Amino acid sequence: MSESRTDVPSAQDEVVEICRDLIRIDSSNYGDGSGPGERAAAEYVAGKLSEVGLEPTVYESEDRRTSLVVRFEGEDSSRPGLLVHGHLDVVPAQASDWTYDPFAGEIADDCLWGRGAVDMKDMDAMVLALVRQMRREGRRPPRDVVLCFLADEEAGGKKGAHWMVDNHPGEFEGVSEAISEVGGFSVTVGGQRIYAIETAQKGIQWLRLVAAGRAGHGSMVNDDNAVTALAEAVARVGRHEWPMRMTPTVQRFLEEIGDAFGFEVDLADPEPALSKLGTMARIVGATLRNTANPTMLKAGYKHNVVPQTAEAYIDCRFLPGYEEEMLATIDELIGPDVRREAVIQDIAYETTFDGDLVDAMVAALLAEDPDSRAVPYCLSGGTDQKSFSLLGIRGFGFAPLRLPADLDFSGMFHGVDERVPLESLRFGVRVLDRFIAAS
Ligand SMILES: [Zn+2]
Repeated sequence: MSESRTDVPSAQDEVVEICRDLIRIDSSNYGDGSGPGERAAAEYVAGKLSEVGLEPTVYESEDRRTSLVVRFEGEDSSRPGLLVHGHLDVVPAQASDWTYDPFAGEIADDCLWGRGAVDMKDMDAMVLALVRQMRREGRRPPRDVVLCFLADEEAGGKKGAHWMVDNHPGEFEGVSEAISEVGGFSVTVGGQRIYAIETAQKGIQWLRLVAAGRAGHGSMVNDDNAVTALAEAVARVGRHEWPMRMTPTVQRFLEEIGDAFGFEVDLADPEPALSKLGTMARIVGATLRNTANPTMLKAGYKHNVVPQTAEAYIDCRFLPGYEEEMLATIDELIGPDVRREAVIQDIAYETTFDGDLVDAMVAALLAEDPDSRAVPYCLSGGTDQKSFSLLGIRGFGFAPLRLPADLDFSGMFHGVDERVPLESLRFGVRVLDRFIAAS
């Protein structure tokens, strides 16, 4: 290797340092606007891009709520573009619960520790490191790649992806497909590794239930007590056993893992098979049915006063295609005397596990990990992909990481001691490099 070449770091050299830098920039999103915002992280990313001649456009939906976007021109710009998006915010972390300071970017046990290590400053860093290497080498992607780093994903993207889609859709013109977080990671069962690529997401309905009754003195007979009516409705919702609903993505997932691991999967009763999947079971288990969890109660102001109204908050998640069924069931459960109001809503999303882009993902994974297998799965939560799907963009969760068998990866998301193996970051860069080149 010539001397000048050793001076230029490769993506695999840089990825850990970039991820570490990003973790050290606290971009906690408390959901109420009280956090530091994403500006510092966005400025860091913009600096890394402009060093290699990409000049991003920076947008602020509000003061310090910063997103940026830049188009990396491809060999053939007449082809539809590929969007690679990542969010810059993280959920808050309480330092006293952690082994290492969550914003120190500590390296220990061959892992990089800190808030955002897997959600999703890892992917942000992998993409940045790769793009920098491609620019230095004078390589271009086969088609335009739109790089977008976003604010506010952890609070639903109102000040990030949703805002960008509503206010600057032109930045995504001609883009047909996208990749982003919560997919492409490995799960090991019985020595066999599978990579779960996200092709579907559940939708969100956060509901407020309101019961109205007759206010009065707590010592009187009251047969129209709002607290009682609300409590009954909440109990019915919380105790309801939601029927299983098989979506195409979950069915394909179950068939694939049955085949990969050589065990029978009864599609009418898949839970026994799922239980063999370790940490993955938790994610997939929540995608077999709609769910509705009561999470907050609000009523009354004095021990001897019956209040006029009582409120409950329900976190409802529906499978693609089952929103109406879920709301009809909720209405039946709460009855005519309790009213429901929408607090936060977002769509479900589902695409098929086929086509050239999926082939490129699978081939890139297999090239770096030949004995593995890639399968589609449905995410029980949501990502910014929901926003971009409104522009007709077909998106996938593909942030490739080869992980040690014993790492509780799904527990890392928003968890204590979030960390990513250094080798996984380097693996991700190699897979993304192959993927982009074949996309
Ligand atoms: Zn995330």
